[in-house]
Amino acid sequence: MDYSYHNHTWRCGHASGTEQEYIEKAIGGGIRHMGFSEHIPFRFPDGYESSYRAPVESMEGYFQVLRDLRERYRDRLELWIGFEMEYYPEYFDQMLWNARTWGGEYLILGQHFIYHDEHPESAGAPRPMDPAENLKEYVSCVISAMESGWFSYVAHPDVYRFAGDEKIYGREIRRLCEASRRLEIPLEINFLGIRDHRHYPNLDFWRIVGEEKSPVTFGMDAHDVSSAYDAASLEKALGMVKRYGLNYIGRPRLRPLGKTFYSA
Ligand SMILES: [Zn+2]
Ligand SMILES: [Zn+2]
Repeated sequence: MDYSYHNHTWRCGHASGTEQEYIEKAIGGGIRHMGFSEHIPFRFPDGYESSYRAPVESMEGYFQVLRDLRERYRDRLELWIGFEMEYYPEYFDQMLWNARTWGGEYLILGQHFIYHDEHPESAGAPRPMDPAENLKEYVSCVISAMESGWFSYVAHPDVYRFAGDEKIYGREIRRLCEASRRLEIPLEINFLGIRDHRHYPNLDFWRIVGEEKSPVTFGMDAHDVSSAYDAASLEKALGMVKRYGLNYIGRPRLRPLGKTFYSA
């Protein structure tokens, strides 16, 4: 594995270490194509900012530090500076504009919430009671994000928890897989999920991905130095590729964001 496009920094408040330490660790493991994909800052119209995101004020430093490191390591590493971002239909244009204006070079989709439930007031807002309707909403958000053409891949596509009817689960996940295949946007096996024994990777999900032959890639999702190259999770992910006959494509093709008129 010579690529790693899912890495965070201390700016999101739940990661540790310096960018340079991540880079050194990654190069030591054989990474030659790397990207940082910090949780993109977002200020809701009422001023609310979630604590799991990097603060808006940290963007200057984020780009400054990583551009300097890109120069310093240019002979050993191709370095991209991007973001992990949700797809919220009503805020997408604003978030994309921010990403490009700050200087973001690529996006990965991390759909941690639907109905922008990260906002404390949104969480109490009316929504369907039926879990299947909420699963459908999750899948529809992921598909809309893929169809927008701005996202290079889908991080932990199996992050959504669903305990309902497995037929409905299968039908919805196949819908997601079909879009990934049609649009050639890879689905990521997330190493943080493996390392931390989270509810993802969800093996029911990956069995379907194998049947649907959607493109698959890997992401370290590093939040500390030691996981900037995670050989143990790599081995497990390769085991999943074999077990489910996954269409593992290796390094994903990044979709550059391009600059806006106001870019730094
Ligand atoms: Zn994180
Ligand atoms: Zn992440």
